[in-house]
Amino acid sequence: MRGFVYSQPETPSDAVHALATGGADIRLIAGGTTLYDLMKLNLERPARVVDVSGLRELALFDTSGERELIFGALARMSDVAADARLLRDYPALAESLQKAASQQLRNMATLGGNLLQRTRCAYFRGGEPFGCNKRTPGSGCSAIGGLDRGHAVLGVSDACIAVYPGDWAVALVAFDAEIDVLGPHGQRTIAVESLHREPGSTPEKETVLSPSELILRIRVPATPLGRSSTYHKIRDRESYAFALTSATAAVRLEEGLVREARVALGGVATRPWRARSAERVLLGKPLTEETAQAAGAAAFAAAVAGRYNGFKIELGIRTVADALLIAGARAGA
Ligand code: SF4
Repeated sequence: MRGFVYSQPETPSDAVHALATGGADIRLIAGGTTLYDLMKLNLERPARVVDVSGLRELALFDTSGERELIFGALARMSDVAADARLLRDYPALAESLQKAASQQLRNMATLGGNLLQRTRCAYFRGGEPFGCNKRTPGSGCSAIGGLDRGHAVLGVSDACIAVYPGDWAVALVAFDAEIDVLGPHGQRTIAVESLHREPGSTPEKETVLSPSELILRIRVPATPLGRSSTYHKIRDRESYAFALTSATAAVRLEEGLVREARVALGGVATRPWRARSAERVLLGKPLTEETAQAAGAAAFAAAVAGRYNGFKIELGIRTVADALLIAGARAGA
Protein backbone atom coordinates (compact mmCIF):
# COMPACT_ATOMS: atom_id res chain seq x y z
CA MET A 1 0.00 0.00 0.00
CA ARG A 2 1.16 3.50 -0.82
CA GLY A 3 1.51 5.86 2.14
CA PHE A 4 -0.36 9.15 2.28
CA VAL A 5 -0.79 11.99 4.75
CA TYR A 6 -4.23 11.98 6.35
CA SER A 7 -5.91 14.98 7.99
CA GLN A 8 -9.31 15.79 9.49
CA PRO A 9 -10.11 19.52 9.28
CA GLU A 10 -12.50 20.92 11.89
CA THR A 11 -14.25 23.50 9.71
CA PRO A 12 -15.08 23.88 5.99
CA SER A 13 -12.61 26.79 5.84
CA ASP A 14 -9.85 24.55 7.23
CA ALA A 15 -10.67 21.96 4.59
CA VAL A 16 -10.44 24.54 1.80
CA HIS A 17 -7.16 25.84 3.23
CA ALA A 18 -5.77 22.31 3.24
CA LEU A 19 -6.83 21.81 -0.37
CA ALA A 20 -5.40 25.16 -1.48
CA THR A 21 -2.02 24.59 0.13
CA GLY A 22 -1.61 20.81 -0.15
CA GLY A 23 -0.28 20.51 -3.69
CA ALA A 24 -1.71 18.73 -6.73
CA ASP A 25 -1.89 15.20 -5.29
CA ILE A 26 -4.45 15.99 -2.62
CA ARG A 27 -7.93 14.47 -2.48
CA LEU A 28 -11.04 15.03 -0.39
CA ILE A 29 -12.72 12.04 1.14
CA ALA A 30 -16.23 11.85 2.61
CA GLY A 31 -18.00 8.47 2.32
CA GLY A 32 -15.01 7.03 0.47
CA THR A 33 -17.10 4.85 -1.82
CA THR A 34 -15.33 6.00 -4.99
CA LEU A 35 -11.91 7.16 -3.81
CA TYR A 36 -10.98 3.94 -1.95
CA ASP A 37 -12.11 1.90 -4.92
CA LEU A 38 -9.92 3.86 -7.32
CA MET A 39 -6.98 3.85 -4.88
CA LYS A 40 -7.13 0.05 -4.68
CA LEU A 41 -6.97 -0.05 -8.48
CA ASN A 42 -3.96 2.29 -8.37
CA LEU A 43 -5.85 4.79 -10.51
CA GLU A 44 -5.87 7.39 -7.73
CA ARG A 45 -2.53 7.85 -5.94
CA PRO A 46 -3.02 10.75 -3.54
CA ALA A 47 -0.13 12.03 -1.46
CA ARG A 48 -2.60 13.67 0.94
CA VAL A 49 -6.17 12.83 1.89
CA VAL A 50 -8.42 15.38 3.60
CA ASP A 51 -11.27 13.66 5.44
CA VAL A 52 -14.27 15.99 5.69
CA SER A 53 -16.67 13.37 7.08
CA GLY A 54 -16.52 14.96 10.55
CA LEU A 55 -17.94 18.34 9.43
CA ARG A 56 -21.29 17.78 11.09
CA GLU A 57 -22.94 21.01 9.95
CA LEU A 58 -22.66 19.76 6.37
CA ALA A 59 -24.51 16.55 7.18
CA LEU A 60 -27.86 18.23 7.88
CA PHE A 61 -30.77 18.46 5.45
CA ASP A 62 -34.15 20.18 5.53
CA THR A 63 -37.00 19.32 3.14
CA SER A 64 -39.62 21.48 4.91
CA GLY A 65 -38.80 24.89 3.42
CA GLU A 66 -41.45 26.78 1.48
CA ARG A 67 -38.90 28.32 -0.90
CA GLU A 68 -36.26 25.64 -1.18
CA LEU A 69 -35.06 22.25 0.01
CA ILE A 70 -31.57 22.27 1.49
CA PHE A 71 -29.26 19.26 1.54
CA GLY A 72 -25.87 19.44 3.26
CA ALA A 73 -23.16 17.97 1.05
CA LEU A 74 -22.36 15.32 3.67
CA ALA A 75 -25.92 14.07 4.17
CA ARG A 76 -26.02 10.30 3.58
CA MET A 77 -27.86 9.04 0.52
CA SER A 78 -29.81 6.46 2.54
CA ASP A 79 -31.01 9.02 5.11
CA VAL A 80 -32.28 11.41 2.44
CA ALA A 81 -33.86 8.61 0.38
CA ALA A 82 -35.98 7.64 3.39
CA ASP A 83 -37.19 11.17 4.19
CA ALA A 84 -41.01 11.08 4.36
CA ARG A 85 -41.52 14.60 2.94
CA LEU A 86 -39.21 13.94 0.03
CA LEU A 87 -40.98 10.66 -0.75
CA ARG A 88 -44.35 12.42 -0.76
CA ASP A 89 -43.52 15.77 -2.37
CA TYR A 90 -40.50 15.01 -4.61
CA PRO A 91 -40.62 11.30 -5.46
CA ALA A 92 -38.16 11.78 -8.35
CA LEU A 93 -35.47 12.96 -5.93
CA ALA A 94 -36.10 10.12 -3.48
CA GLU A 95 -36.27 7.49 -6.24
CA SER A 96 -33.01 8.68 -7.80
CA LEU A 97 -31.30 7.95 -4.49
CA GLN A 98 -33.14 4.67 -3.81
CA LYS A 99 -32.18 3.32 -7.22
CA ALA A 100 -28.51 4.30 -6.95
CA ALA A 101 -25.92 1.73 -5.88
CA SER A 102 -26.46 -0.85 -3.14
CA GLN A 103 -27.86 -0.27 0.34
CA GLN A 104 -24.37 -0.62 1.82
CA LEU A 105 -23.01 2.06 -0.50
CA ARG A 106 -25.97 4.37 0.11
CA ASN A 107 -25.36 4.05 3.85
CA MET A 108 -21.86 5.46 3.41
CA ALA A 109 -22.04 7.69 0.34
CA THR A 110 -22.77 11.39 0.67
CA LEU A 111 -24.86 13.63 -1.59
CA GLY A 112 -21.92 15.88 -2.47
CA GLY A 113 -19.61 12.94 -3.11
CA ASN A 114 -22.25 11.37 -5.31
CA LEU A 115 -22.37 14.49 -7.47
CA LEU A 116 -18.61 14.30 -7.93
CA GLN A 117 -18.21 10.60 -8.70
CA ARG A 118 -15.89 10.13 -11.64
CA THR A 119 -17.31 9.86 -15.15
CA ARG A 120 -15.54 6.67 -16.19
CA CYS A 121 -15.77 3.39 -18.05
CA ALA A 122 -14.35 -0.12 -17.80
CA TYR A 123 -11.34 0.81 -19.97
CA PHE A 124 -10.52 3.59 -17.51
CA ARG A 125 -10.70 1.11 -14.62
CA GLY A 126 -8.81 -1.54 -16.59
CA GLY A 127 -5.59 0.47 -16.60
CA GLU A 128 -2.79 -0.45 -19.00
CA PRO A 129 -2.74 -1.58 -21.77
CA PHE A 130 -5.98 0.22 -22.65
CA GLY A 131 -5.64 3.73 -24.00
CA CYS A 132 -7.79 6.18 -22.06
CA ASN A 133 -7.58 9.94 -22.56
CA LYS A 134 -9.20 10.50 -19.19
CA ARG A 135 -6.64 8.40 -17.29
CA THR A 136 -3.66 9.38 -19.43
CA PRO A 137 -4.34 12.41 -21.66
CA GLY A 138 -3.27 11.79 -25.24
CA SER A 139 -3.29 7.98 -24.98
CA GLY A 140 -6.46 7.54 -27.05
CA CYS A 141 -9.87 6.13 -26.23
CA SER A 142 -10.23 2.35 -26.34
CA ALA A 143 -14.01 2.60 -26.09
CA ILE A 144 -14.41 4.34 -29.46
CA GLY A 145 -14.79 1.46 -31.88
CA GLY A 146 -14.45 -0.96 -28.96
CA LEU A 147 -16.89 -2.47 -26.47
CA ASP A 148 -19.11 0.59 -26.16
CA ARG A 149 -22.47 -0.98 -25.19
CA GLY A 150 -22.72 1.05 -21.99
CA HIS A 151 -21.33 4.28 -23.39
CA ALA A 152 -22.87 7.64 -24.20
CA VAL A 153 -24.84 8.69 -27.27
CA LEU A 154 -25.19 12.37 -26.28
CA GLY A 155 -22.46 14.91 -25.53
CA VAL A 156 -19.68 12.67 -26.83
CA SER A 157 -16.38 13.80 -28.38
CA ASP A 158 -13.53 12.23 -30.34
CA ALA A 159 -11.63 12.00 -27.06
CA CYS A 160 -14.14 10.31 -24.70
CA ILE A 161 -17.60 8.73 -24.75
CA ALA A 162 -17.92 7.70 -21.09
CA VAL A 163 -21.34 8.05 -19.47
CA TYR A 164 -21.87 10.19 -16.40
CA PRO A 165 -22.95 7.37 -14.08
CA GLY A 166 -24.94 9.18 -11.37
CA ASP A 167 -28.69 9.23 -10.78
CA TRP A 168 -29.13 11.98 -8.17
CA ALA A 169 -27.70 14.70 -10.44
CA VAL A 170 -30.13 13.70 -13.20
CA ALA A 171 -33.04 14.39 -10.86
CA LEU A 172 -31.44 17.61 -9.60
CA VAL A 173 -31.00 19.17 -13.05
CA ALA A 174 -34.68 18.60 -13.79
CA PHE A 175 -35.53 20.75 -10.76
CA ASP A 176 -33.03 23.59 -11.48
CA ALA A 177 -31.00 22.76 -8.37
CA GLU A 178 -27.91 24.73 -7.38
CA ILE A 179 -24.87 24.08 -5.23
CA ASP A 180 -23.06 26.44 -2.90
CA VAL A 181 -19.31 25.89 -2.95
CA LEU A 182 -16.56 27.34 -0.76
CA GLY A 183 -13.15 28.16 -2.18
CA PRO A 184 -10.08 30.13 -1.10
CA HIS A 185 -11.72 33.37 -2.29
CA GLY A 186 -15.11 32.80 -0.71
CA GLN A 187 -18.42 31.23 -1.59
CA ARG A 188 -20.13 30.95 -5.00
CA THR A 189 -23.26 29.30 -6.39
CA ILE A 190 -23.34 27.04 -9.46
CA ALA A 191 -26.33 25.49 -11.22
CA VAL A 192 -26.05 21.70 -11.05
CA GLU A 193 -26.69 21.71 -14.79
CA SER A 194 -23.47 23.71 -15.26
CA LEU A 195 -21.36 21.68 -12.83
CA HIS A 196 -20.32 18.84 -15.14
CA ARG A 197 -18.40 19.40 -18.38
CA GLU A 198 -18.76 17.55 -21.62
CA PRO A 199 -15.45 15.79 -22.40
CA GLY A 200 -14.42 17.85 -25.47
CA SER A 201 -10.66 17.50 -25.88
CA THR A 202 -10.00 17.43 -22.12
CA PRO A 203 -12.01 14.53 -20.65
CA GLU A 204 -9.81 14.50 -17.55
CA LYS A 205 -11.58 17.75 -16.49
CA GLU A 206 -15.02 16.61 -15.39
CA THR A 207 -16.45 19.61 -13.54
CA VAL A 208 -16.09 23.39 -13.40
CA LEU A 209 -14.91 23.25 -9.78
CA SER A 210 -11.37 24.32 -8.98
CA PRO A 211 -9.28 21.71 -7.10
CA SER A 212 -9.58 23.66 -3.86
CA GLU A 213 -13.36 24.14 -3.82
CA LEU A 214 -15.65 22.26 -1.43
CA ILE A 215 -19.37 21.68 -2.00
CA LEU A 216 -21.24 22.95 1.06
CA ARG A 217 -24.85 22.25 0.18
CA ILE A 218 -27.33 21.52 -2.58
CA ARG A 219 -30.44 23.71 -2.87
CA VAL A 220 -33.57 22.75 -4.79
CA PRO A 221 -36.28 25.39 -5.47
CA ALA A 222 -39.58 24.24 -3.97
CA THR A 223 -42.18 23.48 -6.62
CA PRO A 224 -45.57 21.73 -6.77
CA LEU A 225 -44.17 19.93 -9.85
CA GLY A 226 -42.29 17.71 -7.42
CA ARG A 227 -45.38 15.71 -6.48
CA SER A 228 -46.01 14.65 -10.06
CA SER A 229 -42.46 13.49 -10.79
CA THR A 230 -40.55 10.25 -11.15
CA TYR A 231 -37.05 8.90 -11.70
CA HIS A 232 -37.31 5.93 -14.05
CA LYS A 233 -34.18 3.77 -14.39
CA ILE A 234 -33.57 0.88 -16.77
CA ARG A 235 -30.58 -1.36 -16.00
CA ASP A 236 -29.25 -4.82 -16.71
CA ARG A 237 -29.59 -5.89 -13.07
CA GLU A 238 -32.44 -4.44 -11.04
CA SER A 239 -30.74 -4.84 -7.65
CA TYR A 240 -27.62 -2.80 -8.31
CA ALA A 241 -26.26 -1.40 -11.56
CA PHE A 242 -25.60 1.78 -13.46
CA ALA A 243 -28.39 2.96 -15.73
CA LEU A 244 -28.51 1.83 -19.34
CA THR A 245 -31.04 4.62 -19.70
CA SER A 246 -32.86 6.73 -17.15
CA ALA A 247 -35.17 9.71 -17.14
CA THR A 248 -36.47 12.20 -14.64
CA ALA A 249 -39.90 13.50 -15.62
CA ALA A 250 -42.26 15.97 -13.97
CA VAL A 251 -45.42 17.49 -15.38
CA ARG A 252 -48.12 20.00 -14.44
CA LEU A 253 -51.47 19.56 -16.15
CA GLU A 254 -54.41 21.94 -16.42
CA GLU A 255 -57.67 20.90 -18.03
CA GLY A 256 -55.96 17.88 -19.49
CA LEU A 257 -53.11 19.82 -21.15
CA VAL A 258 -49.44 19.97 -20.19
CA ARG A 259 -48.65 23.43 -18.83
CA GLU A 260 -45.18 22.68 -17.50
CA ALA A 261 -42.79 19.77 -18.04
CA ARG A 262 -39.30 18.77 -16.95
CA VAL A 263 -37.25 16.02 -18.58
CA ALA A 264 -33.66 15.01 -17.82
CA LEU A 265 -31.69 11.99 -19.02
CA GLY A 266 -29.20 9.64 -17.37
CA GLY A 267 -27.18 6.66 -18.59
CA VAL A 268 -26.94 8.03 -22.11
CA ALA A 269 -24.88 11.23 -21.93
CA THR A 270 -21.45 12.38 -20.82
CA ARG A 271 -23.02 14.62 -18.19
CA PRO A 272 -26.46 14.93 -16.53
CA TRP A 273 -28.60 15.93 -19.49
CA ARG A 274 -31.59 18.28 -19.37
CA ALA A 275 -33.82 17.65 -22.41
CA ARG A 276 -35.55 20.99 -22.98
CA SER A 277 -36.49 20.05 -26.53
CA ALA A 278 -38.60 17.22 -25.05
CA GLU A 279 -40.23 19.64 -22.62
CA ARG A 280 -41.19 22.02 -25.45
CA VAL A 281 -42.85 19.24 -27.43
CA LEU A 282 -45.33 18.64 -24.64
CA LEU A 283 -46.45 22.16 -23.83
CA GLY A 284 -50.11 22.81 -24.57
CA LYS A 285 -50.77 19.19 -25.55
CA PRO A 286 -52.52 16.33 -23.77
CA LEU A 287 -50.17 13.78 -22.23
CA THR A 288 -50.73 10.59 -24.24
CA GLU A 289 -48.55 7.69 -25.35
CA GLU A 290 -48.08 9.49 -28.67
CA THR A 291 -47.02 12.85 -27.22
CA ALA A 292 -44.82 11.14 -24.63
CA GLN A 293 -43.07 9.18 -27.42
CA ALA A 294 -42.68 12.38 -29.44
CA ALA A 295 -41.04 14.03 -26.44
CA GLY A 296 -38.68 11.05 -26.11
CA ALA A 297 -37.79 11.28 -29.79
CA ALA A 298 -37.02 14.99 -29.41
CA ALA A 299 -34.77 14.24 -26.45
CA PHE A 300 -32.66 11.89 -28.59
CA ALA A 301 -32.73 13.83 -31.87
CA ALA A 302 -29.02 14.64 -31.61
CA ALA A 303 -27.93 11.19 -30.40
CA VAL A 304 -24.93 9.53 -32.08
CA ALA A 305 -24.69 5.74 -31.96
CA GLY A 306 -21.37 3.94 -31.69
CA ARG A 307 -20.68 0.28 -32.44
CA TYR A 308 -22.90 -1.49 -29.90
CA ASN A 309 -24.82 1.23 -28.06
CA GLY A 310 -27.36 2.20 -30.73
CA PHE A 311 -30.08 0.33 -28.81
CA LYS A 312 -29.89 3.05 -26.16
CA ILE A 313 -31.58 5.52 -28.49
CA GLU A 314 -34.80 3.52 -28.87
CA LEU A 315 -34.64 2.38 -25.24
CA GLY A 316 -34.05 5.95 -24.12
CA ILE A 317 -37.04 7.24 -26.09
CA ARG A 318 -39.24 4.62 -24.43
CA THR A 319 -37.75 5.40 -21.02
CA VAL A 320 -38.65 9.08 -21.38
CA ALA A 321 -42.16 8.17 -22.57
CA ASP A 322 -42.73 5.77 -19.66
CA ALA A 323 -41.39 8.30 -17.16
CA LEU A 324 -43.72 10.98 -18.50
CA LEU A 325 -46.73 8.68 -18.24
CA ILE A 326 -45.81 7.74 -14.66
CA ALA A 327 -45.45 11.43 -13.78
CA GLY A 328 -48.74 12.14 -15.58
CA ALA A 329 -50.52 9.48 -13.53
CA ARG A 330 -49.20 11.14 -10.38
CA ALA A 331 -50.55 14.46 -11.68
CA GLY A 332 -53.96 12.88 -12.06
CA ALA A 333 -53.94 12.50 -15.85
FE1 SF4 B 1 -11.23 6.63 -21.18
FE2 SF4 B 1 -13.44 8.03 -21.74
FE3 SF4 B 1 -12.46 6.43 -23.57
FE4 SF4 B 1 -13.56 5.36 -21.36
S1 SF4 B 1 -14.61 6.53 -22.94
S2 SF4 B 1 -11.61 4.76 -22.37
S3 SF4 B 1 -13.04 6.94 -19.83
S4 SF4 B 1 -11.41 8.24 -22.71
